[in-house]
Amino acid sequence: MKITEIKTFLMQAGSPKETAWSANGISSAGTRNWLFVKIYTDAGVTGLGECSGWPRVAEAAVRDLSHILVGEDPTHIERLWQRMHTALMGHGQSGVVGHGAMSGLDMALWDIKGKVLDTPVWNLLGGKVRERIRAYSHASTVENAMSLVARGYTAIKTGGVADPLGKLADLRAALGDEIDLMVDLHGPPWLTAPDAIALCRELEQFHPLFVEEPVAPEAVDAMRRVRDATSVPLAAGERLAGLYGARSLITDGLVDVIQPDTGRAGGLTPMKKIAALAEAHFVSMAPHAGTLGPVAEYAAVHLLAAIPNALILERFEDDWTGKQAVLSQPLECVGGHLLVPDRPGLGVDIDEAFIAAHPSVRNCRLPITEGAGAYAPGTEAEAVYFQSRQGRHHYFKRS
Ligand SMILES: [Mg+2]
Repeated sequence: MKITEIKTFLMQAGSPKETAWSANGISSAGTRNWLFVKIYTDAGVTGLGECSGWPRVAEAAVRDLSHILVGEDPTHIERLWQRMHTALMGHGQSGVVGHGAMSGLDMALWDIKGKVLDTPVWNLLGGKVRERIRAYSHASTVENAMSLVARGYTAIKTGGVADPLGKLADLRAALGDEIDLMVDLHGPPWLTAPDAIALCRELEQFHPLFVEEPVAPEAVDAMRRVRDATSVPLAAGERLAGLYGARSLITDGLVDVIQPDTGRAGGLTPMKKIAALAEAHFVSMAPHAGTLGPVAEYAAVHLLAAIPNALILERFEDDWTGKQAVLSQPLECVGGHLLVPDRPGLGVDIDEAFIAAHPSVRNCRLPITEGAGAYAPGTEAEAVYFQSRQGRHHYFKRS
């Protein structure tokens, strides 16, 4: 069997109503893209994957990488992954765009292999450890959180740069001790180690399942200082690419939870390796899914079904309805848990007509310009990211 052709399917996706990456609950309208790829073979079997990591740019990367794969046997996944990775040497090799492109292609290779062997991808990854995947969703208000709990969710994440301490305190008071709560600080550069330490120490009293990105991902030294000064479990890794990107967070003991993004970490091949490296260091895995589209979510479910140290999967419960409409068969979520599909390969296809009806318009944006924590036009905060601590000192301590 040989790979004959690779096609890309780029679309404009709507925004979820409640987004963790918007500090005030206003969704990031009009900037979310999904990129799907299909690998075709001379045996008539096709594979489907999804690329995050700036999808519109990753589309060009997929086109550039295609000649590395065409003519090759799609079942030799590790070899093909290494060929793609080597081919990126001239382009920096380590970034999320290249790894985003490889993610979708790698995912599609696993899909083909599953179809050829008539077995689900989770079976290729080692077989099932669990029948369903626990998920958490996002809430910035008590009302939203209560609605999710009423639908069966037992884990809620809040956060943003606007008063994460206040939000977590409110959620804990309203939901009691049985619901797992997480807080994502999004690691802004103005959140320095001393501020992050003060904040994390205040968060300890609310017993979060984890505190995510307490400092900027580039500030590894600051992460160490936070780690040594607080007892809250720490999570990070969504903006890193590949096994090597995740390595030091795990091996240096900086996190309790590693959060690679299934669509931009390089695919299931490195995700499985990251999981194993994490397992060896008693770190659990909770893949990022902030911009994740529906096929990458499928891949994450297959992976988490097959690894022992799966903690939980991020999910936007109240996402854009197109997330289901674009799929031949949406994932089933019952009581806050995703059911593991049993069909061969990833077990899903895309609706190409639906994608064609939603062409990509725009794929990047400035941060929000309204409400608390905004980068309001005409203010000092507009372009001076580092000054955004102004007016936020009260976020670091409960008075
Ligand atoms: Mg995050």
